[in-house]
Amino acid sequence: MNSKDKAVDKLVSTIRRAAEFHGHLGPFLVLGVKMGLIGMKKLKIQANAWRLRIEVELPKQIPYTCTLDGLQAVTRCTFGNQKLSLKEAKSPVISTKFDADNGEKRVFICVKNEVLQTLMEKLQKAKGDTATQEKLAWMIASMPEDKLFSIKIQ
Ligand SMILES: [Zn+2]
Repeated sequence: MNSKDKAVDKLVSTIRRAAEFHGHLGPFLVLGVKMGLIGMKKLKIQANAWRLRIEVELPKQIPYTCTLDGLQAVTRCTFGNQKLSLKEAKSPVISTKFDADNGEKRVFICVKNEVLQTLMEKLQKAKGDTATQEKLAWMIASMPEDKLFSIKIQ
């Protein structure tokens, strides 16, 4: 197995683990998983690092909130350990601020507008069909990060 296959394999198992935690597999959960992984990579931080905190802004409604479980599953910053804080957005946006407690670096990741719009349209058409939701989830999983997110490092 080459290293690219290994990376894909690891992403697939991470997504399955997150879906088990969350209760179902959908594209917003995968957005959370990918955001979490990218944020930690940019900060050069491991999951469960004591110094990682995240602040998430999104509308408090499904499917936006599905993203929270993807983020919690990979970063281990959770409501329970108070390393995750949530700001309610009044418009359809999803953004996460990753903060290493030492204050050296911050990463802001925002889901691109066109991605949110496309997903909402497709989910509405799917009318709760599980197979379509899972197909959309794997579509998001396979998309490159620059197509999905705007990333800012401070
Ligand atoms: Zn969900």
